[in-house]
Amino acid sequence: MQIRADLHVHTTYSKDSLITPKDLVYYSRKRGLNAVAVTDHNQLQGALKIAKETTDFLVIPGMEVSSSDGHIVALNIQELIPKGFSAVETVERIHRAGGVAIACHPYVYFKGCLREKVCASFDAVEVINARAFPFKNSVKKAEEVAKKLGLSRVAGTDAHYGPQIGYGYTVIEAQEPSVEAVAKAIVKGDCEPFGQPVPVILNAQQQVLRIKRMIKKFSHT
Ligand SMILES: [Zn+2]
Ligand SMILES: [Zn+2]
Repeated sequence: MQIRADLHVHTTYSKDSLITPKDLVYYSRKRGLNAVAVTDHNQLQGALKIAKETTDFLVIPGMEVSSSDGHIVALNIQELIPKGFSAVETVERIHRAGGVAIACHPYVYFKGCLREKVCASFDAVEVINARAFPFKNSVKKAEEVAKKLGLSRVAGTDAHYGPQIGYGYTVIEAQEPSVEAVAKAIVKGDCEPFGQPVPVILNAQQQVLRIKRMIKKFSHT
């Protein structure tokens, strides 16, 4: 069956995101997705909790690991992958944990990106990151490296604000609607990336809401 999933979403378990677990499912459905991956920065507890508590929507638990070489998304894991190791070591740890290792936004400005550290031991390259800058060039370069290394190609939004969800998504041909089947299909390459850049207005709204939230927090302390 066909699964449409945004494979890169941050929730409020990441300090820099505004997406509550409720928003996560609401906006995923609204955008026509039937699965979503939770990939908070260097933590897994929130993703596991949301995946467990969400019974009417497929939530793929994952995390975004800050390796010493750049960010790496791990999907379908049950244990925390520590930050600070090299890309090669991090991918090995993800595999030992039974997970899928994705080189996310490998060529962007302002984020920890892997660039020439993307290697054949990864399972997939996030060729479309809907919040990548510069968008076109980063997609082109990521496509090239995926092709060169023969890796699966996926897409995600890197959403930090509900309405951003679904601008980048992956269509996956999975045996069944389960986390295990989705992970298997991605590794096999039975998936296709789709997406467009998140509209500037949504990124601006996100910043305004973040500042408002910070002010509120300060006025309460
Ligand atoms: Zn990142
Ligand atoms: Zn991210």
